[in-house]
Amino acid sequence: MKILVTGGSGYIGSHTCVELIDQGYEPIIVDNLCNSKEVVTDRIKEISGKRPKFYLGDIRNQTILEKIFNENEIDSVIHFAGLKAVGESVTKPLEYYDNNIYGSLVLLKAMKKANVKKIIFSSSATVYGTQPIIPYVETMQTGEPTQPYGRSKLFIEKILQDLFKAEKNWSITLLRYFNPVGAHSSGLIGEDPQGIPNNLMPYITQVAIGKRPSLAVFGNDYNTPDGTCVRDYIHVMDLAKGHVAALNNNNANNIQIFNLGSGKGTSVLEVISAFETVFGKKLPWHFAPRREGDLPAYWANADKAKQIMGWQTKLQLEDMVKDSWNWQRNNPQGFV
Ligand code: NAD
Ligand code: UDP
Repeated sequence: MKILVTGGSGYIGSHTCVELIDQGYEPIIVDNLCNSKEVVTDRIKEISGKRPKFYLGDIRNQTILEKIFNENEIDSVIHFAGLKAVGESVTKPLEYYDNNIYGSLVLLKAMKKANVKKIIFSSSATVYGTQPIIPYVETMQTGEPTQPYGRSKLFIEKILQDLFKAEKNWSITLLRYFNPVGAHSSGLIGEDPQGIPNNLMPYITQVAIGKRPSLAVFGNDYNTPDGTCVRDYIHVMDLAKGHVAALNNNNANNIQIFNLGSGKGTSVLEVISAFETVFGKKLPWHFAPRREGDLPAYWANADKAKQIMGWQTKLQLEDMVKDSWNWQRNNPQGFV
């Protein structure tokens, strides 16, 4: 069965392609390579024995999407393509809205034209905004994300909800990811941030490899057990499996929302400590002021995904830091 994977050469998309192939699906990638490299498809082949068909193209280009749907009998779409740097979205709101929202609209219109009405969308825990209660559960009202990236995710969720209200023959799954980290255990694919990493795990591994002098831990005075922020880290291979579970479940002419997280909160200092155990040395780090916009603590209630899709995380923090480090060590310059 052919699955169109938008943004399939990116971090989560590439790991999902590996899992799709493993489960007998045929992923077809469309990616404009604005944040990834085509060599990823070689690596996917090395891991899984099959190279996904690759279309170089932008999802805002209706012509390329129509060509893909005409040339391939696509069953479902997994929609990863988009811009994801929260801080950058504040300085480039038009680029973020254009890519994420307009791109999704062009994709949905092309799907409708091709009569492909099954889609899994990469949403984010950011759509919860600030909630008074932790853990976050799907039945909570969404909040007010504080930046254009988060708002773009919330708008796309609402667009998909409106679409389903109007056209009940769609099957739509919104997956709200918590904090994806880790890499495939082969060390052949992983997260390859351009420039200075924004996220904790790639920053840690770049300090460990000697690319950056020290990790700044943003804030030590939060109302959390050790004063640092608490998040729900999820191994990217568990996340990839979550997409396959969602695909298998997304047949019901329905719109469904699932948190994809471990259901467990981990502090920044706990991540550093787990990393040091694998690294075998102390990591240079220092406390720095809080980062604007960071929430003190949140994690997922992941019960719904378990009950309905039979999916839950299997990999632990130890696997996440081990595989992140293995990827970084084997690819000090990322994909070259
Ligand atoms: P990524 O940047 O590694 O992958 C996104 C891919 O989409 C890249 O390969 C990029 O080249 C491609 N792309 C971007 N705009 C495109 C366009 N207009 N047309 C075609 N291709 C385009 O990001 P990721 O971490 O793999 O994230 C995948 C999705 O998951 C994104 O939508 C992101 O917002 C969402 N998400 C990510 C996280 C996270 O922490 N990584 C958390 C929550 C949600
Ligand atoms: N963080 C940090 N130093 C960094 C990057 C992140 O202390 O260089 C902290 C950040 O404050 C947050 C946690 O690590 O508490 C996870 O941040 P990340 O950017 O990875 O994900 P977010 O939860 O913000 O989406």
